[in-house]
Amino acid sequence: MKKVPFIDKKTAELIDAKIPTPFYVYDEEGIINNIKNIRSAFAWNMGFKEYFAVKATPNPFLLKIMKEHGLGVDCSSLTELILSKAVGFSGDDIMFSSNETPEEDYVLAQKLGSIINLDDITHIDYFDKLCGLNETMSIRYNPGGVFTVSNGIMDNPQDAKYGMTTDQVFEAVRIMMDRGVKHFGIHSFLVSNTVTNDYYPMLAGKLFELAVDVHRKTGAHISFINLSGGVGIPYTPDQEPNDIFVIGDEVRKVYEKILVPAGMGDVAIYTEMGRYVMGPYGALVTKAIHEKHIYKEYIGVDACAVNLMRPAMYGSYHHITVLGKEDAPCTHKYDVVGGLCENNDKFAIDRMLPEIEKGDYLFIHDTGAHGFSMGYNYNGKLRSAEVLVHPDKSFEMIRRAETPKDYLATFDFSDFDFI
Ligand SMILES: *Cc1c(COP(=O)(O)O)cnc(C)c1O
Repeated sequence: MKKVPFIDKKTAELIDAKIPTPFYVYDEEGIINNIKNIRSAFAWNMGFKEYFAVKATPNPFLLKIMKEHGLGVDCSSLTELILSKAVGFSGDDIMFSSNETPEEDYVLAQKLGSIINLDDITHIDYFDKLCGLNETMSIRYNPGGVFTVSNGIMDNPQDAKYGMTTDQVFEAVRIMMDRGVKHFGIHSFLVSNTVTNDYYPMLAGKLFELAVDVHRKTGAHISFINLSGGVGIPYTPDQEPNDIFVIGDEVRKVYEKILVPAGMGDVAIYTEMGRYVMGPYGALVTKAIHEKHIYKEYIGVDACAVNLMRPAMYGSYHHITVLGKEDAPCTHKYDVVGGLCENNDKFAIDRMLPEIEKGDYLFIHDTGAHGFSMGYNYNGKLRSAEVLVHPDKSFEMIRRAETPKDYLATFDFSDFDFI
């Protein structure tokens, strides 16, 4: 599908005049429409709830949009809980899906009334001693083996550190029932970024069968199945996007085939999508500041891998549009690079693009999830600002850029007399 930027060059210039590049932009209208589609695709399920994975885009202004449109949040750490609380989330609008969880994280999650999703069987005692078990508890499941979806999409749950084995799920349910737990959720995350409509329906089939089995063998009431994240987005223009309506309808068919005949038609479906909710609706905008001609052609930009780590870390493709040159022919082959002292600091390698001049704005697509949030400070580089573009095209800064003072804030300089 052709990649079309959601801002034009004029808007980039207007933003840049107030909030210098590099900056992240988010498309409020796109986010809201997408949330509406997700909710309507699963509206057949009475208890359906999408818990947005906060780690994908942890910004309170964006979380507020999610809240206003009926989403909950999926938190994995103390600070994500604090952020979510600040936005007004509480109770069963928070799913706490952590692993290797510190005590203070569980304590705060419990204080906020979150649904606790236990990653391991040993966490039953750990959490029980700290907080006491709740009437409803959730269990993260890892089926092991290899999970194959379609189109060669697969992953190896057997190598993943998350979740409990099948036997442990049954044992965990029995232990917790003995201690008075009344309702259970089952959660599983098996494959990341699946660009196919088959993943959720296949995962749902597996989890529904397990839920029926658990119910039959232990008598436990299963109140929800959490399909977690993993629904992907097409990063390259040649990929077909997922159709959330097909996905929702296929999950419904599996639900009606497996859960309903087992008398479990009251099970709520939960999801914890991050990438699918936000990915396409965020972009990193950076300016070309240098041109270098050695053995290859380089365009040096003012963002670097600390602003967007995915290409350096996973070799991920992110489409780039040169704003104002949307329709210009791609006649030049460039490496688009940032300024880190790391040779993997490349947003694009051998990419065919229109001729780039210094001062051009590069719109790096599909960075609305796992983009800004994976940022770091290597080389003393600073995190950028985040900007929300409203449906009427006006814009608002929703996080300022870091300054050197922020970078130095965790040092205590009081013993240094040169300051
Ligand atoms: C990261 C994560 C998600 C979100 O994954 P996406 O691929 O962004 O949808 C959901 N649940 C858990 C437990 C996660 O760790």
